[in-house]
Amino acid sequence: MLCDVCNATVDSNAPRVSADTFRLLLDCGFGLNETNVQMVMDGGVPRAEAIARLTAAYKTSQSDWVLCDVCFQKAKSNITS
Ligand SMILES: [Zn+2]
Repeated sequence: MLCDVCNATVDSNAPRVSADTFRLLLDCGFGLNETNVQMVMDGGVPRAEAIARLTAAYKTSQSDWVLCDVCFQKAKSNITS
């Protein structure tokens, strides 16, 4: 399995967050991976637009998000602050 945020390899015990929680995290500025942003920008899209597009796409997700420990810790600090 892979972390849905950073693509790190995780095992089946990896923490998950619900789609609803993930939407909250996106609003806090968490959840976008720099690699994915760069990939969209490589298509000639300005950075702000790339971020907006990825955020909009992620917000339509209905399934749980699998996170690695690093992303999960970041997510937790985002949601509590
Ligand atoms: Zn991760």
